[in-house]
Amino acid sequence: MQPTLKFIAVLTFVQACTGFAWCVEDTDRAVDADVVLRGGTIVDGTGEPQYQGSVAVRSGKIVAVGAFALGKVGQVIDCQGLVICPGFIDLHNHSDHTILSPATKDASCYLTQGCTTLVTGNCGGGPIDVAKFYDALTAQGVGVNIAHLLPHGSLRSKVVGKSRAPPTDAQLEKMQQLADMAMREGAWGMSTGLIYVPGSYADTDELVAIASRVAEHRGIYASHIRDEGDALVESVAEAIDIGKRARLPVHVSHFKSVKRRNWGKVRVAAHLIEEARQSGQQVTADQYPYTASSTSIMAMLLSPDEREGGNQATAERLKNAAEALRLRPIVAEALAARDKMMIASSKQKPDWVGMLIREVAVAERCEPLDVAMEILLDASAQGVNFSMAEADVRFVMKLPWVATASDGSSKIDDGSRPHPRSYGTFPRKIGRYAIQENVLPLEAAVRSASGLPADILGMTDRGYVRVGQAADLVVFHPDKLEDRATYQEPFNRSVGIRWVLIGGQFAIADGELTKAMAGRPLRHGAELR
Ligand SMILES: [Zn+2]
Repeated sequence: MQPTLKFIAVLTFVQACTGFAWCVEDTDRAVDADVVLRGGTIVDGTGEPQYQGSVAVRSGKIVAVGAFALGKVGQVIDCQGLVICPGFIDLHNHSDHTILSPATKDASCYLTQGCTTLVTGNCGGGPIDVAKFYDALTAQGVGVNIAHLLPHGSLRSKVVGKSRAPPTDAQLEKMQQLADMAMREGAWGMSTGLIYVPGSYADTDELVAIASRVAEHRGIYASHIRDEGDALVESVAEAIDIGKRARLPVHVSHFKSVKRRNWGKVRVAAHLIEEARQSGQQVTADQYPYTASSTSIMAMLLSPDEREGGNQATAERLKNAAEALRLRPIVAEALAARDKMMIASSKQKPDWVGMLIREVAVAERCEPLDVAMEILLDASAQGVNFSMAEADVRFVMKLPWVATASDGSSKIDDGSRPHPRSYGTFPRKIGRYAIQENVLPLEAAVRSASGLPADILGMTDRGYVRVGQAADLVVFHPDKLEDRATYQEPFNRSVGIRWVLIGGQFAIADGELTKAMAGRPLRHGAELR
């Protein structure tokens, strides 16, 4: 075949495959569009080198990328000096409740980071009635797209309760049936939270049994593993084993090693994952780019064995003096293993919010252990735990199979002092670590926030700047992209995001939130039905 003929044949084949004969990459033919992002630096989500070009959007989809002549165009946006990339997909989000609340349904703290899709149902917690959750989102309207995972902890809580008991055969069958239903209703997989009650009471066999049903629908197994410190390697090995036995992709959530004595161990765990990948297994992870973590203070200071019945029941037991005395050395040991801990929220001790435990101890003229025992009486108290090594954080973010994810949730300033990740994760990784500090190439950082999470989920219609994909797009100023949220001022919005399109609608226009509520639930398998 002559070269020219071969080229035409390939082009025809590509057009036939995409189903958009008029959709073009690099052509002289004039392109009609609703919006054209003209003349920017395109970083397309593949990790390939950036290039100069334009992107045309029509009827919610990307219809042309690269160099093309403009036909009838509704709006042209000059993107000179700006980066055009896919909308960011936050694989690990906890907006299950706040996304249905009037004050936070717009997810403005994520739009200002360039996020266009959030994945909920993580760490084993969240709604298990997937159809009802998606319908509620549609009825109410949402500012970003939402893709949901079936949370195993909530599933177990509904079927077995919060006790340590193993499920009966009937209960296991019931959990499998509900998993089946969740997947049919559009869940993208399942999640586990194996440090939380009651997920922690599930053994490996139980998880394999449920994951096997998820695998039948091509879902993933995402896990907050059993231990991220002393038993990190064994916990990663369990996740890999579950993937092998249940035959589904494994995803390790917020990959890290905590507590000073475990610093560096994340490299051993990464090696284990790379071996599994080389043997053909699909294993990936995600990370938030901070050295502090955050969860309930109860989960930080007491093992799951000591939290039977959940945080509320544990707080009740702690009111008993003998029980408190028994737990004191356990809490003392957990406290000693951490560099410092900040109280992020507490209903019972609002004056302590934003203070380190040791600062409270000085102010109250007591021991840090006394402060910890007191704050544990508040079952809902949250903490920020400074327990990771910066070198480990930088090592993990460079791994090509690690996605960027926030582990935060849509929120507004409510007087608490939460982890800044809900406002800063994506600009921090891309602006601070990639562009300013050159820890990794810009293309790799963008991929970790777009194409990679889409691939991990098996989401085929977004994640890339590519013809035929949904027009979820972000345009940012590379010199100005920066996270401004800190541990002391966690509600500061990120800066530098100029334009955000979700399904072709502007969620941010020229740096301003539009209140478009352009998101929608994304149902797994919907494109196949
Ligand atoms: Zn988690």
